[in-house]
Amino acid sequence: MALQGAAAKHRSIRGPKATRAADPAKPMAIARPLLAWYRRHRRDLPWRMNRDPYRVWVSEIMLQQTQVERVKDFFVRFIDRFPAVESLAAASERQVLRLWEGLGYYRRARQLHAAAKRVVADHAGSFPDTAAALRELPGIGRYTAGAIASIAFGRREPILEANSRRVFARLVGHDRPVGGAADEPLWQVAAAFVPVRDPGLFNQAIMDLGAIICTPTQPQCDRCPLAGLCVARATGRIAEIPAPTPRRAATLVRETAVVIRQGDRVLVERRPAGAWWEGLWDFPLAAADDKVARGDRRLASISYTVTHHRITRRVVVRRVATAPPAGRTKRFVAIAELDRLAMTAPGRRIARLLDANG
Ligand code: SF4
Repeated sequence: MALQGAAAKHRSIRGPKATRAADPAKPMAIARPLLAWYRRHRRDLPWRMNRDPYRVWVSEIMLQQTQVERVKDFFVRFIDRFPAVESLAAASERQVLRLWEGLGYYRRARQLHAAAKRVVADHAGSFPDTAAALRELPGIGRYTAGAIASIAFGRREPILEANSRRVFARLVGHDRPVGGAADEPLWQVAAAFVPVRDPGLFNQAIMDLGAIICTPTQPQCDRCPLAGLCVARATGRIAEIPAPTPRRAATLVRETAVVIRQGDRVLVERRPAGAWWEGLWDFPLAAADDKVARGDRRLASISYTVTHHRITRRVVVRRVATAPPAGRTKRFVAIAELDRLAMTAPGRRIARLLDANG
């Protein structure tokens, strides 16, 4: 493996402490001090109460693209409402999306729901116990399959996400770009380091080390259980590793939402397939050439971000005498009833403004 060579190359380098470079051929040299540290410093997270694959799976899906602190409350609410894969499978999509609201990336919720149905229909409610079989389920990729297989089933499977990627890259001195296909060498490092014994604990420990000690800036190397094995530290390249991923320039977007209102009812539309927030409800957006009508009342201007798009949405209220036609993708609903719909993030913000403004 190329990185074994890289690690070996640094084995004789003397850094702030006498350093033996992290050697993927000797995984226990990493696992022992790491697990000892983890036993004392692990994060107390609600999904770590037990190794139930359902809880591990729900938490891992929520943690994709969402910060741990933000996920905690959502996780507790979700498990409270859907305590087992059967109850999730039996729920309607509307119920699942409503509970997911605020976490963003709703495709995750749809795939979670679809996977729950598959586990119940094809596996009698028991999760497959290998990474390969888990990856057959909707929404479960390489990382999530490795996390569930190792944490819930004790399989020797690697994981690589933002925290573990940074730790592994620094440990072996991997200074090339990371992310996507460029992560393959680090997947190999992760696979070599994960021990046969307690692979799930090891994977959680690496993530915690990245979150608590080996942070993106100003890592606390003096408190790191792997400091004596770290190539980046020994060679003074911590700040350069991992190499930053080039950022895509933000695209600025302006749009106008028109709240069509008759009495205390407003028109909402369902986002079509392929659109952001597919399947969620929102207020109609004006076409680019749709001029604001005389009598429209300006309600607010709100800003939000979707991937690399920074969007400013102007919101106007248009009172109408008769309700426009409704259908499967359009509804005319009382403002007080909006709370029951699964809405887009900007749509929900507008709904709250309507509530507050009467
Ligand atoms: S905290 Fe410091 S010593 Fe530990 S792995 Fe990160 S960079 Fe290396």
